[in-house]
Amino acid sequence: VNTTGKPDISREKSAELYAKAKTYFPGGVNSPVRAFKSVYGTPLFIQKGDGSHIWDADGNEFIDFCCSWGPLILGHNNTKVREKVTEVMQNGMSFGAPTALENELAELILKNNKLIEKLRFVSSGTEAVMSAIRLARGYTKRDKILKFEGCYHGHVDALLVKAGSGLVTFGETSSAGVPKSFADETIVVSLNDKDALTKAFEEFKDQIAAIIIEPIPANNGLLLQEKEYLQFLRDICTQNGTLLIFDEVISGFRIGFEGASGYYGIKPDIITYGKIIGGGMPVGAYGASAAIMGNISPDGAVYQAGTLSGNPVAMAAGIAQLSELLRMSFYKDLNNKTEEFRDAVQRFATARNYKFKVFGIGSIFWFAFTDKEYIRKAEDIDASSMEKFKKFHRELINRGIYLGPSGYEVGFISSAHTKTDLEKAKRAIFDSLDLVF
Ligand code: PLP
Repeated sequence: VNTTGKPDISREKSAELYAKAKTYFPGGVNSPVRAFKSVYGTPLFIQKGDGSHIWDADGNEFIDFCCSWGPLILGHNNTKVREKVTEVMQNGMSFGAPTALENELAELILKNNKLIEKLRFVSSGTEAVMSAIRLARGYTKRDKILKFEGCYHGHVDALLVKAGSGLVTFGETSSAGVPKSFADETIVVSLNDKDALTKAFEEFKDQIAAIIIEPIPANNGLLLQEKEYLQFLRDICTQNGTLLIFDEVISGFRIGFEGASGYYGIKPDIITYGKIIGGGMPVGAYGASAAIMGNISPDGAVYQAGTLSGNPVAMAAGIAQLSELLRMSFYKDLNNKTEEFRDAVQRFATARNYKFKVFGIGSIFWFAFTDKEYIRKAEDIDASSMEKFKKFHRELINRGIYLGPSGYEVGFISSAHTKTDLEKAKRAIFDSLDLVF
């Protein structure tokens, strides 16, 4: 029985599928957060999506604010994306040879995004980051990487590292199976802490190949940074011959066509992309100046390859989706709509004196059970507030609102979310907040 005393939505079919999945996959899933471990109930097995809505195996319908963790900026099953993919598939699905479609997607990106001159397509965000790190090390001939506590960059060995104790630390591995010697090449510092960063550069002078950061950290809550701090990173990198990598797997093409780099007006040395450029298909990319990218094989000494890199079906989805984003006022409309939504929820919570904040940027939002005005570093999130999120998530699911199943995850709004969707979502959020507090 949930907070309202009413029964929860039926999860009978999902539970059956989950039981079966557990016999095939560790934890019953192919990516851990999907297992609903930090929220109530069985993971919902999704059967179909259309626009802003998804349906689970039990026939429950939801307004989806997870959007496959971000790629679906046009919503589910967008007609243009589907038609382009279907058209391209008639000619086969993979050749392991160059196709014109790769040129087409690259041209679309490079013509409209002046932050990089050349790029490489890969098949996931993790692969993009892994390759960017190798490129930075190869280019600078240095081994150490500096990352920030609370930034996620995929499941790359060297980056599955969390801060140890102390101001500047060598990381401790945050996953079994990552050799300590790998983690020793990774320095971890707190976000929004200039002293820690300066100290790291003093201690490891001429050893740091790259700083990697999510310029809009969105994997441990939404830890919005000040522009001045990002500029500080840019400057310290330039002064020390260190490359600055912006991991824009989430923010790329989400905040605007030039992502967070364009938004803040800061040019990193290497940018990684994923999610949106694949239109829902598995794609990632990394890009930089022609001089830096010239170090990649076959021209350069940094090896990187992929059987399905630049896969034609994935390229087709990317071409169709990115073309839509270039329409006049696409981002303005989407971002305004999201801002109105965020503001309305915040006004409600403030009027009720709830310890609840809606943080956001562009079409991203994060619901945080806090009364802090800003949260800029992972260490400032109160872990005990996640109990409230768990209740909130359960109430929302019962009211047909699907959020990612963790209080540390952000939500996304797509161009397919209608006024009616957002009105319905607001009502559900208000009712759920009243029950949680
Ligand atoms: N970098 C960031 C900022 C991400 O958010 C993610 C995934 O969410 C990744 C890298 C890894 O991408 P993928 O899951 O496609 O491997």
